[in-house]
Amino acid sequence: MTRAAQAQINLHALRHNLQRVREAAPQCRIMAMVKANAYGHGMVRVARALAPGRMPQCGGRREERKRRVPQEPPGTSVDALGVSSIDEAMMLRDAGIAAAITLLEGFFEPAELMLIQQHNLDVVIHHPAQLAILEATPLATPITVWLKVDSGMHRLGFAADQVPQVWQRLTACHSVRPPVRLMTHLASADDLASPQTPQQLACFNAATAEINAERSIANSAAILGWPQTHDGWVRPGIMLYGASPFINGTAMAHDLKPVMTLTSQLIAINHYKKGDAIGYAASWVCPHDMPVGVVALGYGDGYPRHAVSGTPVLVNGKRVPLIGRVSMDMLSVDLSGQPHAHIGDAVTLWGEGLPVEEIARYASTIPYQLLCGVTPRVKFIEI
Ligand SMILES: *Cc1c(COP(=O)(O)O)cnc(C)c1O
Repeated sequence: MTRAAQAQINLHALRHNLQRVREAAPQCRIMAMVKANAYGHGMVRVARALAPGRMPQCGGRREERKRRVPQEPPGTSVDALGVSSIDEAMMLRDAGIAAAITLLEGFFEPAELMLIQQHNLDVVIHHPAQLAILEATPLATPITVWLKVDSGMHRLGFAADQVPQVWQRLTACHSVRPPVRLMTHLASADDLASPQTPQQLACFNAATAEINAERSIANSAAILGWPQTHDGWVRPGIMLYGASPFINGTAMAHDLKPVMTLTSQLIAINHYKKGDAIGYAASWVCPHDMPVGVVALGYGDGYPRHAVSGTPVLVNGKRVPLIGRVSMDMLSVDLSGQPHAHIGDAVTLWGEGLPVEEIARYASTIPYQLLCGVTPRVKFIEI
């Protein structure tokens, strides 16, 4: 038998969550974030579901590439896809994805500009070095540019006082297709009590007050929690995958549905005595005689090794506690509450019926990291 570890990917849930983006920000265009293998869900499958327009033939001429073949009614497709590198963008183009694709960190060296032009990719320009490369590289076909403003996150972007001048230079650059667009990113939108979001918004608005352009501010947390940031384009990531972006948030509170359900099976049930220690480092000791189940899934599949004893696991749809250390290929659960469980019974680690947000809290991390971390040996199944 092959390994039982599976990630079921529910594309209906994905489309439902996209609809939630539209409801929350009805005026806005949507750049769906599919970076990092679509947060671990499979970039090409997610892009096909969110942006179904396909290229007639891969490798065709540029004009052909730009012509879309509509396969679903309008409104089902997002307006652009966001990726972090040209490698990710090329995987999408190679799979025949015709949608607009934005490189969120732009290009890193001049040679990439040729590919960007050839494959009709949009770029974020966030640094003077990129601006200099762009100005020094004449392109036959100009490219679409987002000017990234650092409104206070202090990761990427031009400082507010540089924005008007950078805007002028980009607008004057022959390799840039006007009009130049404006983007910023929020550092604390997941915390509705933080003053940083209004501060960043004020900074961005002041820096761009004299500029009439398309703009984009909101990530998932801002889409759901900060309507004043719904300006032009929104950039949903985690909410598309059905997890809450908020600290201590739940997907259910926002009517989001989990897209990934990580499952496996019980491969052993053993009965131990009071005082027997379970697993590596003997870190957990049976408080009484009890049945212990072994689940065929571990950190080699992306389950967090730091999930503590007591982290919930579903066996046949009912919660049981994780016990002891998570191993590479297995983890153990206390089956005291399920004396009738059998080898081969279904186990859910997160997803439908067991929110990934909850598992993330037990593992001192965030849903993003758990979803991104599922490893390639897990079998992905679309439902
Ligand atoms: C990843 C990313 C997003 C999406 O963030 P979520 O919190 O997942 O919604 C938005 N904007 C930028 C620039 C990003 O890198």
